[in-house]
Amino acid sequence: MIKINLRRLILLLTVSTALLTLTYTFYASYRTQRSLLMEQAMETNRAYAIKLASSTDHFLADAQRQLAYSARLLTPLMDQPAQLVAEADRLQQQNGSFNSVFIIRADGTALAAAPRRPALTGVIIDSPGIRAALKRRQPMISEPYIGASGYLLIFISQPVYTADGQYLGYVGGAIYLQEKNVLHSLLGENYYRDGSYLYVVDQQRRLIYHRDPKRVGQVVADNPAIEAVIAGQTGNLQLVNSQGTDMLTGYAPLRRTGWGIVAQRPTAATLQGLDGLMLDVLRHTFPFFLLSVLGAWWMSRVIAQPLSRLANTAQDWDSPHAPEQIRRVRSWYVEAEQLKRAMLAGLAKIHQKLGRLNQENITDTLTGLVNRRGMQAALAQWQAEARPFAVIALDVDHFKQVNDQFGHDTGDRVLQYLARQMRNGSRSNDLLCRLGGEEFCMLLPDCSQETAIGVAERLRTRIAATDSPTGTPITLSAGVSHWPAGGAAVETVLKQADKALYKAKHNGRNRVEAALS
Ligand code: GH3
Ligand code: MG
Ligand code: MG
Repeated sequence: MIKINLRRLILLLTVSTALLTLTYTFYASYRTQRSLLMEQAMETNRAYAIKLASSTDHFLADAQRQLAYSARLLTPLMDQPAQLVAEADRLQQQNGSFNSVFIIRADGTALAAAPRRPALTGVIIDSPGIRAALKRRQPMISEPYIGASGYLLIFISQPVYTADGQYLGYVGGAIYLQEKNVLHSLLGENYYRDGSYLYVVDQQRRLIYHRDPKRVGQVVADNPAIEAVIAGQTGNLQLVNSQGTDMLTGYAPLRRTGWGIVAQRPTAATLQGLDGLMLDVLRHTFPFFLLSVLGAWWMSRVIAQPLSRLANTAQDWDSPHAPEQIRRVRSWYVEAEQLKRAMLAGLAKIHQKLGRLNQENITDTLTGLVNRRGMQAALAQWQAEARPFAVIALDVDHFKQVNDQFGHDTGDRVLQYLARQMRNGSRSNDLLCRLGGEEFCMLLPDCSQETAIGVAERLRTRIAATDSPTGTPITLSAGVSHWPAGGAAVETVLKQADKALYKAKHNGRNRVEAALS
């Protein structure tokens, strides 16, 4: 199975976490922005509907006040046609509240009309507004209806009473809902940019104001905002209107008439800027994301490096450079440091054990000197280092007789005694070897042949003058040679020492002979 490395693992983890966070943050910010925009639009519409409802209420109250004032003025003038016409003119023209003004007698006869229409004066006019006013004999605002002239209008009227309560008729003004007048400009000229607009409905859910004049008069069913507003509620809603458009609406009722004002803006128009906004957010976030990925890449390197270096060294465990390599690893956090220490400790233990095994392997058990294998290893190293050395080959004279005369154990002790004497007369870096039996060899690095002859001679005389474990001194013969004498090979030099030793035996023993170089 292919295993992913630590660094990639860290990188994968951090980058995917960053990506996930980025995505989620982006999404959350999108949702927040979206609902914020929608709520803002609905709230704006609601505030606008409330403001318009109150303005329109004020306008209607104003119109009623004007008529009330006129009604009081007209009480003594109801039988003076010229004055009535003048008052009707004034009402209609003074501030443009009414498209037309009528003064009607209690029996329904028109006494005056403005604009002036002589044809109407003196006849009984029959229209829903006028009829209702006569019947009610109270201040009133009619339901919207289509008048004789074909216009959709409302009729506002004020009764004329004498001081003793006799009903004389009334003064009334018509406001054409689709015509230019103060009410129309109040509602119509205010609709604003960005796709927002408003409409007004009466209690029958009939559109009495709409920016599209063709829709005025239509009854709209199943619109929750209309249902709420004609029930007298103020509020806001998201809804799909009768045209199938998703709308954000705010609505408020008119207290005086029970009409409702609904201000709205298409949801799509409200959210139009959002995509650009989010792209902007993305554009601003992306460099930081890249930076954090870069940071993660770098951190993954720094974190993984000590462990991966240690792991690499572990593969090359028995290399002589392993401890140095491990020591060089910068373990800047706890686990890496622990691992490093454990590896170094383990390595040290192994090397110690190997060293001990090695030592045992190259040591002669009887004398503690280096055996032939050890000697050969040392020679190979010195040869590799081109380190010159001298060789002293030693052999006990007539050792067979020692064994024969004193027994093998004493023979062994004699060999140990000789080894001690060799040690006493040598430097610490000299290599003292027992090659087998009673044959010994001393390797003296950085030592000339002459010096080696001196060393051999000193050892020989001391042995010859000292009692051995047999109770009397033994003697030994020695042959000395030197490497690299005349460029000879190491084996040749060893043989030269043997030859010199043989010569010493031949010349009567207890003597030192040097190889001819
Ligand atoms: P030479 O003067 O010619 O060297 O005579 P030598 O008797 O010393 O020579 P030789 O090589 O014939 O005899 C060596 C003897 O050393 C033979 C053997 O019994 C004895 N020997 C070899 N190894 C050991 C050992 O480990 N312990 C003891 N005690 N004797 C050994
Ligand atoms: Mg011997
Ligand atoms: Mg021998």
